[in-house]
Amino acid sequence: MSDAPPAIRLTGLTKEFGSVTAVDHVDLEIGAGEFFSMLGPSGSGKTTVLRLIAGFEQPTGGTIELFGQDVTKKAPFDRDVNTVFQDYALFPHMSVLDNVAYGLRVRGVKRAERRDRAMKALEAVRLAQYAERKPAQLSGGQRQRVALARATVVEPKVLLLDEPLGALDLKLREQMQVELKQIQRDLGITFIFVTHDQEEALTLSDRVAVFHDGRIEQLGTPWELYEQPASRFVADFVGTSNLFDPERSAALIGREGEHSIRPEKLTLNAHAATAHGERSAPGTLVESIYVGSGIRRVVDLDAGMRVTVLERNDRSRASDDERGDRVHVTWHDADVVPLIPPGE
Ligand code: ADP
Ligand code: MG
Repeated sequence: MSDAPPAIRLTGLTKEFGSVTAVDHVDLEIGAGEFFSMLGPSGSGKTTVLRLIAGFEQPTGGTIELFGQDVTKKAPFDRDVNTVFQDYALFPHMSVLDNVAYGLRVRGVKRAERRDRAMKALEAVRLAQYAERKPAQLSGGQRQRVALARATVVEPKVLLLDEPLGALDLKLREQMQVELKQIQRDLGITFIFVTHDQEEALTLSDRVAVFHDGRIEQLGTPWELYEQPASRFVADFVGTSNLFDPERSAALIGREGEHSIRPEKLTLNAHAATAHGERSAPGTLVESIYVGSGIRRVVDLDAGMRVTVLERNDRSRASDDERGDRVHVTWHDADVVPLIPPGE
């Protein structure tokens, strides 16, 4: 790491609305050029953190630094950030180009330069050929790209995005995820992206902060969050997990405390595991669900817990396992993740 200050540094950031603590002593550093996501369920405080960074809200406590400069008390327009919202609110009567150039006009940039920079911003989101259209003549995904160009044309150092793809349907959202990542890489600026969609956060981000009740429950790379969830909440919220309570952990895994194992790390076998480093538990198959890319199997273990096993769909024939079959659920010791109880 260089000595350069981080793009964003939050220290003890807190926001109370009456008796509700929306943001609870958040400490966070985000590097320049990072694609950073804040992930969490509805009401976990993500939007409030974004609004505090943008300056639309004043914190109850703590500080906000942008590139080493304390901006906690500064007005929104004195901060080198810009925001893209979910309802992109383009001006319907203006052309795409004028929509994008609007922020420059407000800043007193001359007409020729405005046009030039707006065209460049539109090229970056691959919409230059639609410059003269009206927003209504574009698709939802294209409109969202116009909103992105409008936010980036003023060259903010940090772009804040609050669930910008939330209004798009699944197919389009997946397309836009790829584009967003490319655009961020091309521009080389810091993106702070808010979403409640765990797959979206994992796909796009260099690092992700998982929010829960106004606090960061875990901060890490997508790989770390998925492979090494630190708490029951993260294991459950990021992907699906089989959670072993202390009693089952002791009996089946042979370790103290709570543990989780991902469904794709479990396999079904006719016999108990014998290989070194493997363990298994007997149970009864209660459901096989065909999910296209795989088969999800639900097994009631004799130890009194239900697990989900995800088998890859790499067989040409349909499986002949049947409900009620006796099976052994097998895993590798290395795939067992210890969970740290909250507060430790
Ligand atoms: P998220 O974006 O993760 O869904 P928010 O930051 O919008 O969460 O909200 C966090 C908490 O703060 C919620 O309990 C919400 O009801 C509350 N909250 C947010 N904004 C306000 C406000 N302006 N007035 C009162 N409560 C608010
Ligand atoms: Mg929100």
